[in-house]
Amino acid sequence: MKFKFTDYHLHTANWSTDVGEEGPKFEDYIKIAEKKEINICFLEHFELYSIEKDKTNPFYNGNIENYLEELDELKETYDFIYSGLEVEYYKDREIELLEFMDDYERELDFIGGTLHEWIFGYPVTSKKKLLEFLTKKKMKDVIDEYFETSESMITSKIFKNICHLDVIFRYINENDIKPEKDCDISEERVLELGRLCIKNKISIEYNLSGRRFPIGRPFPSKTIISQLKKEGGTFFVGSDSHSLDYFKKQVSKVKEAYEYIRSN
Ligand SMILES: [Zn+2]
Ligand SMILES: [Zn+2]
Repeated sequence: MKFKFTDYHLHTANWSTDVGEEGPKFEDYIKIAEKKEINICFLEHFELYSIEKDKTNPFYNGNIENYLEELDELKETYDFIYSGLEVEYYKDREIELLEFMDDYERELDFIGGTLHEWIFGYPVTSKKKLLEFLTKKKMKDVIDEYFETSESMITSKIFKNICHLDVIFRYINENDIKPEKDCDISEERVLELGRLCIKNKISIEYNLSGRRFPIGRPFPSKTIISQLKKEGGTFFVGSDSHSLDYFKKQVSKVKEAYEYIRSN
């Protein structure tokens, strides 16, 4: 790769449904990355249930082949881009996920395992959906299920990289939807997930996106990153950009994050 550092987590309008239609395309990011001297990896959402059920999902009907083709073509011109996917983990779809990895791990440069929802249609990373989920389920159970499912994702060993370990706290935190008294929101819990990654030789994302939410910190936090580093963790940094303006501001932060990891 051309540059020293890589931002492993970018979403585009064409391939991730949570980016607006007017949002950035591959080429928009590429221009900025070249100017600001950083390698970039496109990490679009790849969610089995949505892909099967929703005809508007960009990956519907085997469209992954077009995704790969488009990126392979760009890679012929630019030597600082990676093709990747942020693949949603579902406990009841482990066999399909393993088959998917068998088929595509070699076709892509980078795959991150991720957990936003464990019941289809209720991603905890959407405030609206989370609030709906919380009318059906106790907050304590939502948090516990998040951690239990994350544990299954890690120990399944399907993925070599895991995204935003504690993203359950994007909205559930003291600055936003306040955790109820019986909820376990301890750092220790996140550390345990990290340790499980280390044990299973899985690389952990230092995801900077939390800084744009009221929680105001990355996923996981700086202190957890440095603790896990001491315990032998390996990391990749992702801005989790969904817009160009945000990406522009994040490039220097991504580089700083790598320096932070290195020096801790
Ligand atoms: Zn994500
Ligand atoms: Zn993402």
